[in-house]
Amino acid sequence: MDGEILQLSGPAGAVIVAHRPESSTTSLVATYARGFGHDPADTPGVAHLHEHLYLATLRSVMTAPIVAHAQTHADTMKISATVLTEASSDLVAALTTASQLLAAGRIDDDVRLRECRAIDVELSEWFGNPLLVTGHKLAALATQRHQLARFDECRIGGSSAITAQDLRAHAARHEAIYPERLVIVGSRPAEEWLPVADTLRAPSFAPDPTTNAPAEEPATPRSDLSGSDTRVYVGIPLQPGTPGNAEAAQLAAQILLHERGPLAEVGKRVGARFRGGSVVPGAGRVVVTGSWLVEDARQREAIGIAMSQHSGQAAPALIATQAAALPERRSAAVTNPATLAATVDAWQSGYGIDPTATSTPCADMIDRCVRTGWNQAVLVGAKPARSGPF
Ligand SMILES: [Zn+2]
Repeated sequence: MDGEILQLSGPAGAVIVAHRPESSTTSLVATYARGFGHDPADTPGVAHLHEHLYLATLRSVMTAPIVAHAQTHADTMKISATVLTEASSDLVAALTTASQLLAAGRIDDDVRLRECRAIDVELSEWFGNPLLVTGHKLAALATQRHQLARFDECRIGGSSAITAQDLRAHAARHEAIYPERLVIVGSRPAEEWLPVADTLRAPSFAPDPTTNAPAEEPATPRSDLSGSDTRVYVGIPLQPGTPGNAEAAQLAAQILLHERGPLAEVGKRVGARFRGGSVVPGAGRVVVTGSWLVEDARQREAIGIAMSQHSGQAAPALIATQAAALPERRSAAVTNPATLAATVDAWQSGYGIDPTATSTPCADMIDRCVRTGWNQAVLVGAKPARSGPF
């Protein structure tokens, strides 16, 4: 890859800059440590609504054309945006302004109600997809937070009941104002972004005691999920993500979801088709979720038994194939600033691929990553149900 990747650290977070001299656009991803898993128990959905309003505010304060989208996960809220290179400082200023406006409570009521309606539409589609719902619930189980109720609700709904005051309180939180990580890809050299790193410095930082509380009780398996009469779901947490082992975690996830991987093998053994799944980012962990289609009670039970009998070991040839495909994936990742920014962000949060690397993680490391996760798998819908000590 041309250019450099430089990390500019600040107490409030890290600014990671990829310098691509030839680029005509600037793309960035800002990650805030405020996901729906941090919602207060009495206002589920506040993080999601904050995400929508952040994006609306960002668009309204931008003077240059912008392509932007945002997403809330259990533990993070992300904003991704692309502008023409000349507008890059405009974008960063708008990013800072948007969070300040929200923290100051400058929220237009019409915009709030419009976004509440948009969220209602989104959620009706969202809850229509049992795999998505289950994936988030399983990811919630893996994050060990002191919020048991969130498991039942996914902590993402109820936006119409959220008042401007709730939003202001949410937006004023340290983690909602300062991104924990900002990835910038553009034509300006890294040093020119140093002032940006300064604007992201927080005046002080005190960890929020409520979000660091340990889980109150171990996760218990549930069977009351929509669609669970025809499926058995699995959630497999992969090891705490760091950039150092991000590629091993990424390859482990690919192997688990592969049509010749260990989850598919379990399905084959009992005659139930593995339907694949997805990778859900969590608090320092990645959760791989998937499901099997089951025909009867016998198959459900058989999946539980087959999972406990299997070690998670994947065929060495499959591991080798996935590792061998890395260079191609790396070059695909750097095709434009937006894909590169997303790749660097995923890599920094511990579940992506390193666009600058030339080697691949060793097979043992990938194998260990799969098996460690396998031992902590949570099965939903299988009997006897098995739930690991998260
Ligand atoms: Zn949304």
